Amino acid sequence: MRNKQTKNVELMDGQIENWRKMEKKIKLSRVIEAIESGDYIIDYTNSCGCNIDWGVNNQYNDELGCECSGDDCWQGHVMKIDDVEVAQNLQHESIEWLADIDCDGYDINWNDYTIDWYLGDQASNPAHDAALLSSLGEYCQEMINDGYQLYYIYGAFANDGALLISKIVPEADHVVMTPVEFAEEYYRYIDNPITDNYQACHVED
Ligand SMILES: [Zn+2]
Repeated sequence: MRNKQTKNVELMDGQIENWRKMEKKIKLSRVIEAIESGDYIIDYTNSCGCNIDWGVNNQYNDELGCECSGDDCWQGHVMKIDDVEVAQNLQHESIEWLADIDCDGYDINWNDYTIDWYLGDQASNPAHDAALLSSLGEYCQEMINDGYQLYYIYGAFANDGALLISKIVPEADHVVMTPVEFAEEYYRYIDNPITDNYQACHVED
């Protein structure tokens, strides 16, 4: 009796899988026609599943930095035609079909069409940026819990101050920051090719 029930469930799953495939089937002639007439939707999609580990680089002047690992970090665009997700164009990847395409003698050369779904290699992933910011905020909060304070040390100019995580109150002109302020300042100036030569972020015991 139990076996029979299991089998029924499997059959159901198989049917559902078939329905999904049928929904996703589309003729390439229809895809080309839709692209040529602009009858399609481009949706942006992204995700960041990176493990971000903040810490001090003892070899490099005790500077704060992070290591990222994981390969589940991506962004790109999905093309929808007639409510079917037809293809995706992810950053650093080639265009990939998502639907079951019935070519029917047709062929497509994506380069023939002007579609606004390309991301340059340099475009940063907002989900990844947000993860960096929030993980740095969490790291800062852990440091506060361990007895550290977060400081901004004023420099001669607005963009040449320094960030400091320390248990000792600095002698130089400074202000105490919250984890959120600290993380935002870090990404405004430290992780910025224009100002990172003038800025530093150290951790001191
Ligand atoms: Zn990421």
